[in-house]
Amino acid sequence: MAFFSASKVSPLAPSFPRWLWHLPRVAPLLALAATLALLWSLHRSDIEEQRATLISDVLWVEQNIRFQMERNAEQLGQLGREAASGTLAAATYEARAQALIRNSQGLVRIVRLDAQARPLAHSPPLSGADLGAMIDGIAGTLGIARRLARPVYGPAHDDGAADSTFAVAVPVFADTNDSGSMVGVYSLRTLLAESVPWWFTQKYRLNIIDGNGSVLASKSSVDALSTTLSYQVPFDPPGNGLAIEVIAYRLETRVLPALLVLAIVALLGAVVFSLSSLRRHVQGRYAAEAALRDEHGFRKAMEDSLLTGLRARDLDGRIIYVNPAFCRMVGWSAEELTGMKPPMPYWSPEEYEQTRAIHDLVLAGRAPPEGVEVRLKRKNGELFEALIIEAPLIDAQGKQRGWMGSVLDITERKRALEFERQQQDKLQATARLVTMGELASTLAHELNQPLSAIASYNTGCINRLEEGQIDREQILAVLRKLGQQAQRAGQIVRRVHEFVRRSEPNRVPASVDAIVEDSVELLDPAARKRGARIDVSYGENLPEVLADRVMVEQVILNLARNGLDAMTDLPLDERVLSLSTARNDDDTLRVSIADRGCGISGDTERKLFSPFFTTKAEGMGMGLNICRSIVELHKGRLWFEPNPKGGTIFHFTLPLAHAEVT
Ligand code: ADP
Repeated sequence: MAFFSASKVSPLAPSFPRWLWHLPRVAPLLALAATLALLWSLHRSDIEEQRATLISDVLWVEQNIRFQMERNAEQLGQLGREAASGTLAAATYEARAQALIRNSQGLVRIVRLDAQARPLAHSPPLSGADLGAMIDGIAGTLGIARRLARPVYGPAHDDGAADSTFAVAVPVFADTNDSGSMVGVYSLRTLLAESVPWWFTQKYRLNIIDGNGSVLASKSSVDALSTTLSYQVPFDPPGNGLAIEVIAYRLETRVLPALLVLAIVALLGAVVFSLSSLRRHVQGRYAAEAALRDEHGFRKAMEDSLLTGLRARDLDGRIIYVNPAFCRMVGWSAEELTGMKPPMPYWSPEEYEQTRAIHDLVLAGRAPPEGVEVRLKRKNGELFEALIIEAPLIDAQGKQRGWMGSVLDITERKRALEFERQQQDKLQATARLVTMGELASTLAHELNQPLSAIASYNTGCINRLEEGQIDREQILAVLRKLGQQAQRAGQIVRRVHEFVRRSEPNRVPASVDAIVEDSVELLDPAARKRGARIDVSYGENLPEVLADRVMVEQVILNLARNGLDAMTDLPLDERVLSLSTARNDDDTLRVSIADRGCGISGDTERKLFSPFFTTKAEGMGMGLNICRSIVELHKGRLWFEPNPKGGTIFHFTLPLAHAEVT
C-alpha cells in the first residue's frame, strides 16, 4: 500500500521534538546521579564533622591527662618538701603518700630518695632488689630532673604484666638546699582507666603508642573501628616519643537515610520502568494508528473506486453515509445528503407514494432480499431506474445501527431488456398473427369449396323445388352431394384439429418439485419487475408424476403470470405469489398457484376459459385455454377458487407415474 501517504507518516508528530522522546529515559538517570551526589556530599560533611569532634575530644583528653599529671607532680614535690623539712612524722608521710596514690590518676607508686638517690621511703613497699632495680632504671631521669630543677619524665617500660610504666622524677629543694627527690611511678593502664571518661570510650578507642607505633596501653568498649577516622597527638608529658592515638568507632549505618536512599532508587527505577512501558505503549499506539490510517485509506480507496452506490441510513431513516458513486448517480454531494431525512431530494415526485412505501418497508425490516426497483431523480431533473438492495447495518458489537443500501443504476439495462421484450412480443404477436392468419386462410380456403358447393346445391335444389321441375330422385341425388360436401368440410375441420393435436405430450416420470423450481427460476425476472415476492412450499416426499416438463412449466408460467398481473395495484409488500405442491388422496399430485390479486368476478368467471377472452391490453385470451388443454392431455384437471386471503388460487392435478403404469 505504498501509494498511501499515510504509510509514510512518521510515528512522531513533527511538532514533537525528537530529544523530548529521550528525556523520560535520561531525566531519571540524572535525578539518580544528583541524589547520589547529594548523599555522598552529606556523608562527606558528616565525616568532616565527626573528625572535628574527634580532634576536639582528643585535645580535651590530652589536656585533662596533662593537667592531672602536672597536679600529681606538684603534689609529689609538696609532699617531698614537707618530708625534707622534718615536719612530717613517718606515719603521716606514709598516709599522705597512700592518699596521693589513691586520689591521683595513674600514680601507682611513690618513692622518696635523698640527695644521693638512696631510698628514704617507698609506698607501697618494695623488696630491696626491686627497689634497687627501679632506682637504677631512673638514675638518668633523676639526674636530668635535679639539673633542671623541675619534674622530668622517664621512658616507658613494659612491666611484664601486660602493662607499661613510666616514672616522674620531682627534685625537692627545701630552703634552696638539695633535699633529694620524689619519684612517682605511673601505670599507663591505670592512668587511662582513671583519666579517660566513660563516654569517651563509647565513641573512640584510645591507644598510647611508642615511637615504633606499638600499642602500650589502650582503652575501648567496642572493637569495630573506622579506618578513616583517627587522630594522634604527642603524649607530652611524659614525652619520650609517646603519643595518644584516638580511633573513632565505625559509624553505624544509619537505617533511615539508607531506607530513604533505597526508596529513592526504587522509585526512580519504577519511574524509569513506567516511563519505558509508557513509551512502548505509546509507540504501539502510534504503530496501530498508522496501520489504522493505512487500512482506512485502503478502504476509502476501495469505496471511492466502487461503481455501485452505497448509502447508509440510521434507524430513523436519516442518511449517515453516502459514497462517491452514489453522489455521482444522484448529483448531490455527500455534504448535502448526509443528515437528510425523508423525503429525499432524489425521490421522484411522480412516484413519491411508491418510494415512500419502499422506504417504510425497508425501515420495518421487510425489504425483499433480492432488492427493489425504484425510479429516482437526479439533481438535474433526469429520471433513472435504480435497483436498491438493502441490508441491516450491524456494528462491531452486533447491534443494528441502521440500514445499508447498495444502489445500482439499471436504466440502461432495463431499457435494453424492455427493448428486447418488446421485440420479442412483436415477434410473437406477428408469429401468432401469421399462424392464425395462415390457419384462418387455409381454413377459409379449404372450407370455401365445400361450403360454396353446399350453397350452390342448396340454391339449385330450392330453385328446382320452386319451379316444381324436380322429382324425388333428383332431390335425393342433390342432397347426397350436399351431404358429401358437408362431410368434406367436416374432414377439413378434423384435419385442422388433428394438426393442432399433432404435438402429443412427451410424458416421462418427473419430479413435480423440480418442475416448480425451474418455473420459479424462469419467473423471477417477471416477479422482480413487478416488485412481487414468490413463496414456494413443497409437499413432503412427493412421488414422481408422468409429465412433459416443458408443457407443465408452460402451465405454471401462465398461471403465475396471470397471478402477478392481478396484483399490480397492490402495495409492494402485499404482492406475494405462493406456489405449493401436495399429494391428493386419489393418486394425483396437486400444484396450486395462489395470488392476492383482484380476484375473479362472476362475469369474468363465466368467460374465463373462452378462447380470446382477455381483460388485458396486450392479452391474447388463450392462456387459460391452452393450460386446460395441456392439463387434460396429462389426464389432469384445472380449476380455480377464491383465495381466503384475497385473490384467486388456481389448482391443477397430475397423475402419479406409478399409478399410470399399473
Ligand atoms: P390473458 O392472460 O392473455 O388475458 P388468459 O386466458 O390467461 O389470457 O386469461 C384470461 C383472463 O382471465 C385474463 O385477462 C384475466 O382477466 C382473467 N384472469 C386470469 N387469471 C386471473 C387471476 N389469477 N386473477 C384474476 N383474473 C384472472
